[in-house]
Amino acid sequence: MHVDMDAFYASVEKLDNPELKNEPVLVGGAGPRGVVAAASYEARKHGARSAMPMRRALQLCPNATVIRPRISRYQQVSAVIFSIFREITPIVEGLSLDEAFLDISDRVPAHGQPLQIARRIKERILADTGLTASVGIGPNKLVAKIASDLEKPDGLCEVRPENFRKVLDPLPIEALFGIGPKTAVRLHRAGVKKFRDLRTADDASLVPVFGRYAQRMRERAAGIDRRPVGEDAQDKSVSAEETFDQDIGDRNKLHHYLMHMTERISKNIQRKGWVASQLNIKVRLPDFTTLSRQKSLQPPANGCRELQLIAAELLGDWLDAHPGAELRLLGVGVSGLGEDRQLDLFPEGKGAKNRKLDRLLDQVADRFGDAALQRGQHKIP
Ligand SMILES: [Mg+2]
Repeated sequence: MHVDMDAFYASVEKLDNPELKNEPVLVGGAGPRGVVAAASYEARKHGARSAMPMRRALQLCPNATVIRPRISRYQQVSAVIFSIFREITPIVEGLSLDEAFLDISDRVPAHGQPLQIARRIKERILADTGLTASVGIGPNKLVAKIASDLEKPDGLCEVRPENFRKVLDPLPIEALFGIGPKTAVRLHRAGVKKFRDLRTADDASLVPVFGRYAQRMRERAAGIDRRPVGEDAQDKSVSAEETFDQDIGDRNKLHHYLMHMTERISKNIQRKGWVASQLNIKVRLPDFTTLSRQKSLQPPANGCRELQLIAAELLGDWLDAHPGAELRLLGVGVSGLGEDRQLDLFPEGKGAKNRKLDRLLDQVADRFGDAALQRGQHKIP
């Protein structure tokens, strides 16, 4: 089951400001570079969407009320929703504050028919928060997530194993996780527009677009998804550390270790399809004093180069502030992990070059071993 609150941030704002009921609301930054975090359904009617520059959204919908996000308030409501989920099943995989997968299969004690469970969840959410949610039920995560979107807002849709192909086939490929706008354009050019086209497309049209992911994308379009619910990346962190035989004070050496560890972490989370929203470094002094420094990543990232630059900056700053310090241990870690949602597999532009490089390095390592090719050192900030 996939549960997704409807226009969550905007709906919470309406709840707290009843005079905005039935009015278009845009939650997001109001400055010249602000971006829409959530658009109410009234604003969406005019074409405003989340992730759109605020300026553009206001051109489309000039009457909208713009509200700055109040994340702590949304977190409060989120806690209520998630506690309702956990009453139903212990296997809850949160995707964001307002969205989660729930495993209600025979892995968990029976609570009745899926549709009954879904109705109960929707009623409880409405009673406890005053907000509506859309629920999708399916034989796996992929189908459930698509189902929750089909009847939004306040939707409830069950796609049964015997008819999921009938439901998926006519959908536009843009509805599939992993296909961003640029990938969609390339697929359209190859005549691939619907799920049906994608699941039956041959390698000649898919490999140029998806490379080694061609088969996986074909399976996704056929509704095949074997990922279990419960990899709750939110609570996870990935870290690496090195205890030195002899304390090290040399900046270059420390930098070198840090870059290696960060690269390992980047590969690790890329393989899992995660992005990190925070990076931290840890230093331990000869007297065992242990300190850490962290920085948030906005937007969340997993690229080797991006993570290395931030790790290097944190270490550089710390060393600047502690001249002559020697380290007994150095570590680096990432946390606030979530699914890589903008997994537009082969986009152009920002970040694409770095991701391409990461993939290339991966392929070289697969063939010739980890030591075959390494990144050059960049300047220590
Ligand atoms: Mg939502």
